[in-house]
Amino acid sequence: MPTIPTVKLLIGGRFVDSATTEWRDVINPATQQVLARVPFATASEVDAAVAAAKDAFTTWRKTSVGTRARIFLKYQQLIREHMGELAAILTAEQGKTLPDAEGDVFRGLEVVEHAAAIGNLQLGELANNVASGVDTYTLMQPLGVCAGITPFNFPAMIPLWMFPMAIVTGNTFVLKPSEQDPMVTMRLCELALEAGIPAGVLNVVHGGEAVVNAICDHADIKAVSFVGSTKVGTHVYQRATLAGKRVQCMMGAKNHAIVMPDANKEQTLNALAGASFGAAGQRCMAVSVAVLVGEAQQWVPDLVAKARGLKVGAGTEKGVDVGPLVSCAAFDRVSTLIERGVADGATLALDGRQPVVPGYEKGNFVGPTIFAGVKPGMAVYDQEVFGPVLCLANADSLDEAIALVNANPNGNGTAIFTQSGAAARRFQEDIDVGQVGINVPIPVPVPMFSFTGSRASKLGDLGPYGKQVVLFYTQTKTVTARWFDDSTVAHGVNTTISLK
Ligand code: NAD
Repeated sequence: MPTIPTVKLLIGGRFVDSATTEWRDVINPATQQVLARVPFATASEVDAAVAAAKDAFTTWRKTSVGTRARIFLKYQQLIREHMGELAAILTAEQGKTLPDAEGDVFRGLEVVEHAAAIGNLQLGELANNVASGVDTYTLMQPLGVCAGITPFNFPAMIPLWMFPMAIVTGNTFVLKPSEQDPMVTMRLCELALEAGIPAGVLNVVHGGEAVVNAICDHADIKAVSFVGSTKVGTHVYQRATLAGKRVQCMMGAKNHAIVMPDANKEQTLNALAGASFGAAGQRCMAVSVAVLVGEAQQWVPDLVAKARGLKVGAGTEKGVDVGPLVSCAAFDRVSTLIERGVADGATLALDGRQPVVPGYEKGNFVGPTIFAGVKPGMAVYDQEVFGPVLCLANADSLDEAIALVNANPNGNGTAIFTQSGAAARRFQEDIDVGQVGINVPIPVPVPMFSFTGSRASKLGDLGPYGKQVVLFYTQTKTVTARWFDDSTVAHGVNTTISLK
């Protein structure tokens, strides 16, 4: 029997085997083949990773901007050169199609490119002569050891949201990848070291609840970035802020797309099908509810036809649109929610259960599934399905559609499809959601902006990349300085608060 490889920890610049007794299999969701075993790190291994990061911070924080920028220039080149290999690892452990896996790596690569521009990002401000001979200026200084906790659905992009910007701003980092698909993340970490990130600046521990709690509690960790479900993110936010850390949590979603009757029909149906069923619906910005306004309600048969035409299969097969769900547990959860949708009285306009996928009979496949007549109060609407399930709701007017979206607690993403500038502008003004698409179904901002989910989809004030994350990973120090010429005349003791 071939030996199953073990996923390593990265501590102090060395990839090491964990001494733990607790392991979990990393499984190919299309075949159930065990690809590797991932350790749940011990408490002392977490301590060692944090200690290595703390030690490395003393020198890394003083490294020149140019040196830091050049490491990320090299890193972006290495990621490009290894794109095919990275996508193949990602598809094997996560399931999404190879082109979509390349997209996952690419959206992370864009953050790495942005990190290389740090010379223009981590700039302070200066005001000359705030009082006579007095200048005030700001320094944006790194915090120290920062940590990141990532979900399974973007195992390349989301780790790359975190450690490049944390490290390029002068911090050191401890990453806790998803235990479900840590292999592509580890390959990215190997490449980061190859690009020149020094020993101890980037560390990786694996595990679940116990390791995450240890990160939240650790006195030497200054900031935590989390991406994952609302339940775990809320716990992480509360626990880590209680321990005095700066925390940002990007969490679950229920993204609505409003379809106006004047929308370009073909473009809209293509966009809805791609954004609802791509990545098997396992995107935090997937469209999970389409609100059909007025005459657009007639488009359901065409939308069903479009969805039915998508090919379900292993992500490695050519022409496949919808890969498997990440795990058997995810398959069971999505299947149960489809059953609940039926039981709650929604109309199953397209049933994607039990698709036939020759050669991959054991895969966790659910095909595109569409419920019509969905209303709040139904489980399939109230819960995040995180599968290839699109709910259709009806509205008589744009106002009614906006009211429905704004009544939903989540605020990750939303979109409107229309040819009317006036309707789009109303939507952009009145919708209470942090990321808005206008004829764009998945409006994830590129890294010169920040990811700005809102309301129940987000805790903490600053987003995970873009300008906001430079603030997240730095402490602003404001210096007020006066230098005396030998000829400066002394004016005696100043007992007031005024600068004189
Ligand atoms: P998850 O919350 O189960 O896991 C996220 C991380 O938390 C993992 O590293 C996991 O090991 C850890 N974890 C799991 N259970 C824990 C517990 N009880 N205590 C402490 N830590 C725990 O999320 P997931 O299933 O991996 O990812 C899917 C979720 O992530 C969806 O809800 C999706 O919407 C969300 N997500 C949000 C964004 C965003 O930017 N808003 C992006 C991607 C995914």
